[in-house]
Amino acid sequence: MMTLGILGGGQLARMLCLDARRMGLRTVVWSGTPTAEPTEGVADLVLKRNFDDVEALEEFCSQVDVATVEFENIPLETLRAVEQAVGLYPSAESIGVSQHRSREKTFFRERGIPCAPFMLVNSLAELKAAHEEIGPNTVLKTAAFGYDGKGQVKITSVDELEAAWDSVEGGPSVLEGFVDFQCEVSVLVARDQGGSCLAFPVAENEHRNHILDLTIVPARVSVETLAEAESIAIRLAEELDYRGLLAVEFFVEKSGHVVVNEMAPRPHNSGHFTMNGCVTSQFEQQLRSVCGLPLGSTELLSDTVMVNLLSDMWNPDLKTSEICATEGAKLHLYGKSSLGERRKLGHVNVVGGHDVEARARQLKKKLLSFLVNSH
Ligand code: AMP
Repeated sequence: MMTLGILGGGQLARMLCLDARRMGLRTVVWSGTPTAEPTEGVADLVLKRNFDDVEALEEFCSQVDVATVEFENIPLETLRAVEQAVGLYPSAESIGVSQHRSREKTFFRERGIPCAPFMLVNSLAELKAAHEEIGPNTVLKTAAFGYDGKGQVKITSVDELEAAWDSVEGGPSVLEGFVDFQCEVSVLVARDQGGSCLAFPVAENEHRNHILDLTIVPARVSVETLAEAESIAIRLAEELDYRGLLAVEFFVEKSGHVVVNEMAPRPHNSGHFTMNGCVTSQFEQQLRSVCGLPLGSTELLSDTVMVNLLSDMWNPDLKTSEICATEGAKLHLYGKSSLGERRKLGHVNVVGGHDVEARARQLKKKLLSFLVNSH
């Protein structure tokens, strides 16, 4: 029996383990943290040790046949050591590109991948110069990745530059032009060891306070926009000589053309719709590409809307029956007990029939009304 090693112990690792178990693979999770709740009882073995622990590295590598990641912020030395010992897909080099916004944006520019105009800034003086060049409407983002809108601030006039610089604590940053988009979409693409590439249907994403709220599939954009997003995602996978699953997030401009916002070398929140909406889930596809199996069909079986369950709208006692009462709703919980501020606790995929969006929005409204009533 083949054993897959997974670096990271959050919900993405959990869902990867669940598909691995269904397909007869063993899994070993190295969480890099003292707790790894989502993978407990789901992985065959969980190593709750730091990523700089050399004994943990040895133990992990002695247990697995091949490895992958569920998040990108893992020390490059650890990734390289795992890669040398057992093979790592995607490669340490590909993951490295995604670890820093500045590296990633520079990669896009060098390869002619369309993205918002940007400049790297390392001082207030550089920020002022960059703002003069790109402004007035811009977004300042820390170069080391924040997530879910953390480490970024919108700037609309020169008066805001100093406060913005303070808010990123004067660290290396990227100033980019604000994109006046019509919507945001994402594409998950898998590439196998032979270089074959398959994209999942383009997903349309709505955010609430910078965190993904709803994913609607198929995305409601023109066929030209769909084709453009898909071909850029595939081109990125090829430029990276990628093996594994790659998520690419785009802004759709008013013109219908797309620009890349960012990419993630792993399964993605906006790809959870595949778990009930497609022949193959994004997790199964990652397993297939990492373990050297043929890629699975990415065909969409039904219109699908995914509703994210954040801790601010979730109380399991109240909500499980409500969700089960919604036609075509499939509940996925991540096994997290702590209800920290706006944590992702699970998601619901609504599938089947012609009115999935209406059913999903109604379900969301109900979940939020519980929230209002419980305060
Ligand atoms: P990020 O963490 O870079 O994915 O940004 C989180 C969200 O902030 C995006 O999904 C957008 O909704 C918004 N955002 C980020 N950068 C820009 C930009 N350059 N122009 C417009 N909106 C942006």
